[in-house]
Amino acid sequence: APVSVADIRKSFLDFFASKGHTVVPSSPLVPGNDPTLMFTNSGMVQFKDVFLGTDKRPYVRAASVQACLRAGGKHNDLENVGYTARHHTFFEMLGNWSFGDYFKRESLKWGWELLTEVYKLPKERLLATVYIDDDEAYDIWHKEIGLPADRIVRIGDNKGGKYKSDNFWMMADTGPCGPCSEIFYDHGPHIPGGPPGSPDEDGDRFIEIWNHVFMQFDMKEDGSVVKLPAPCVDTGMGLERLAAILQHVHSNYEIDIFEALIGAAARETHTTDLANPSLKVIADHIRATAFLVSDGVIPGNEGRGYVQRRIIRRAIRHGYKLGQKTPFFHKLVPVLVDKMGAAYPNLARQAQRITEVLKAEEERFYETLANGMEILDAALAGDQKVLPGEVAFKLHDTYGFPLDLTNDVCRERGVTVDEAGFDTAMERQKAQARAAGKFKMDKALEYTGAGNAFVGYEALEAPAKVV
Ligand code: ATP
Ligand code: MG
Ligand code: MG
Ligand code: MG
Repeated sequence: APVSVADIRKSFLDFFASKGHTVVPSSPLVPGNDPTLMFTNSGMVQFKDVFLGTDKRPYVRAASVQACLRAGGKHNDLENVGYTARHHTFFEMLGNWSFGDYFKRESLKWGWELLTEVYKLPKERLLATVYIDDDEAYDIWHKEIGLPADRIVRIGDNKGGKYKSDNFWMMADTGPCGPCSEIFYDHGPHIPGGPPGSPDEDGDRFIEIWNHVFMQFDMKEDGSVVKLPAPCVDTGMGLERLAAILQHVHSNYEIDIFEALIGAAARETHTTDLANPSLKVIADHIRATAFLVSDGVIPGNEGRGYVQRRIIRRAIRHGYKLGQKTPFFHKLVPVLVDKMGAAYPNLARQAQRITEVLKAEEERFYETLANGMEILDAALAGDQKVLPGEVAFKLHDTYGFPLDLTNDVCRERGVTVDEAGFDTAMERQKAQARAAGKFKMDKALEYTGAGNAFVGYEALEAPAKVV
């Protein structure tokens, strides 16, 4: 079976090409002209208008390997990085699509064929979920594919919020959506976690690898759904999760690409314990931030630029935690390009620029990081369980600590941040600035931008689920 990441990509595309699919290149991380979405979070994003019927392509079947980012906005996985075996901010999604052509039967059968005959995954390790009342998908799995009933789980839309999983996929709060059927791989009883739909499903034993979405609706802003012009298929499989299985490791962070990045991060931060979770965070974040620069996103105080800044600073803080007191992060770029430049030539072409952008941001943040950490450490010295919002605000305002960075430090120490207090402090400072008549447009943008523009996006896209 194919095992290198390059082989896995190729086998996937070859398989779907042999089933009449047109292979389409990955689209940029910044979706073209779509204010409902901060970043490309799945392979279907570039086809959104095709599903909606407002765009047409010369093909009705497509396949791709799509660079995705899940940080900020819907499907935000920033908080999972360093904590689970399966989540990245940046990852690659293998996907196939039918635009009003084939539907559930072909999608599930081809999926099964690819996994068990091309990638040769052991059948007895695979489970499937279906949407709660989707008897059609259930019967395809059970009667046609032959999956035993005890390995098919019916899952709802999570409206009751009992467990985290749901089987109704949405790109964003509006837009194409539909019920789905997901394929899970059992990494074995030595790993904690329960099957999908169980109370401890959030563990890393049963890892979701492939989602087949049966796109049938367009979700409107008021929550109503309108039928799409034709039923479509949208699938997405995490390349790193599949690679972990094929390379006989459990965690995504143990596959070849990550082995190299974690090794480099350890070298640059003089860390000997390769299992240190901060190394995973750094390895994840170099991919996200380098790809973001290559797609034109530079660190800034608002919108996408602020997400970029948050990810970079978070990585730097993890380096600092490992004892690194000078810029190191940008030095990982050559290793990344070595591992991913062949598949993403734009990344390779821009290596120099990426290095410069990251280095400048590092130098800037290192000017205030040590002093900010001193203040934070002092504030956390007692045994209180809440960090005052005033402190978080001062760190944000004076030391350039994004709120989520402060949250990240506090979480490591079992402390929560008084975010309401943070908001109050932010509001008060804005009011004071206005009262003092210092409200010049340029200054105002610079100083409220961090919170405001970003909150604008969050407001557009409802709070992210951590599933
Ligand atoms: P999970 O429940 O594990 O968070 P998901 O249900 O949010 O995954 P989907 O939105 O269904 O994921 O995306 C399709 C596929 O993309 C998943 O089945 C998984 O293989 C992969 N994937 C999703 N999120 C990530 C991530 N943060 N890092 C790596 N792969 C991911
Ligand atoms: Mg899913
Ligand atoms: Mg998720
Ligand atoms: Mg899921």
